[in-house]
Amino acid sequence: MKRQFKVNLDVTEGEPVIKRAKNDLSIETEIVSMDVGVDGNITEISANTPDQHNTFNDDKVQTDTNVPSTPHTPDKHDIDFGTTLPSGVTAGIWESQLDPDTNVSSDETVVTTKSDTKTDADDIQVILVDDTSADPEQWVEIKCNDDTITLYPGNKENILQRDGWLCDSEITAAQMLLKNQFPYIDGLEDTAIIGNHITPAISEFVQIVNTGNHWVCLSTVGCPPSQVNVFDSLGTAANPVAIEHACRTLVSPEKNVKMVNQKVQVQRNGNDCGLFALAFSTEICHGSSPVDCSYDASLLRKHLVRCFEENHMTPFPRTYRRVIFHKNVKTLNVPIYCICRLTNDNNSYVQCSQCSEWYHQDCVNIPGNVVKSTVPWGCLKCKSS
Ligand SMILES: [Zn+2]
Ligand SMILES: [Zn+2]
Repeated sequence: MKRQFKVNLDVTEGEPVIKRAKNDLSIETEIVSMDVGVDGNITEISANTPDQHNTFNDDKVQTDTNVPSTPHTPDKHDIDFGTTLPSGVTAGIWESQLDPDTNVSSDETVVTTKSDTKTDADDIQVILVDDTSADPEQWVEIKCNDDTITLYPGNKENILQRDGWLCDSEITAAQMLLKNQFPYIDGLEDTAIIGNHITPAISEFVQIVNTGNHWVCLSTVGCPPSQVNVFDSLGTAANPVAIEHACRTLVSPEKNVKMVNQKVQVQRNGNDCGLFALAFSTEICHGSSPVDCSYDASLLRKHLVRCFEENHMTPFPRTYRRVIFHKNVKTLNVPIYCICRLTNDNNSYVQCSQCSEWYHQDCVNIPGNVVKSTVPWGCLKCKSS
């Protein structure tokens, strides 16, 4: 069985061949052909010249008849591990790789030679990179500022599948398109950004949040101060993830954050939440309200595919047919504390003796003896006024 590889070799004379990063430009690239026995051991390796890149050239492969009689030292242009390895040395392929007929390999392949006697060939490690394999076929590439997300045919398939649940990259890519079109709307951040990595918004924001296998759209567009609208196609009350995300983005100086679940269309299955969240976000960005908006649920998936292919988000298709809406607006007033302006997380708090505000011990660096003592403590704001 003959196989051909493109090999990135770091060959410095007298030193073992070491594994290098694929994109390290300091390494030499060589084409190496090898003969692999049925036991998986390499019996022959020889270097080809780069112009023989795509074809297996028998002339360049050493055969038993032309094995050099004296051991041959590998150099930059002629790698010949197979037949010159001292006795006791075997080489194995750890992972399956290149199909000789198609020149397409799965990934990198590491070939390690091991010897039980100390020789120059000890622990030679070669990383084989099949640079001839085509990059994975991409469907669309979405760019926004310095970020790029590539979506693949599998993403398109997922979006079009009736029971497909939109994944992070699909939601984030769509939000990137919105960000390009509406740069002055804050939020629209990568959905993987959570917790203390969330950046406070400086203007009205729109953000799709994963609240636990469920996508909801949060927005402050058109809201009074300290209010966050929740557009949730399941209509459940704002959950702790949505509340935390809202508080961290808002950093409200008020005593409460008002989470308002708006009356929007109800999803009729368990998988459309991402599409509805995108439909709501797109609607808000385009200056209208998703409240009382009747979407044609059967067209949402095709519409999103078209948006990706046209690199532009347009409002999702509506219907004149009756659709079901949530009956009530649900409002939740959430008290927030400390300089972090978050909800009570049951961590250690200290109360300011003057303004009565509660502060996280960690957020304002209160020493442990102050927390335990009954001596009144004043917050920075009160002390400086
Ligand atoms: Zn805090
Ligand atoms: Zn105070």
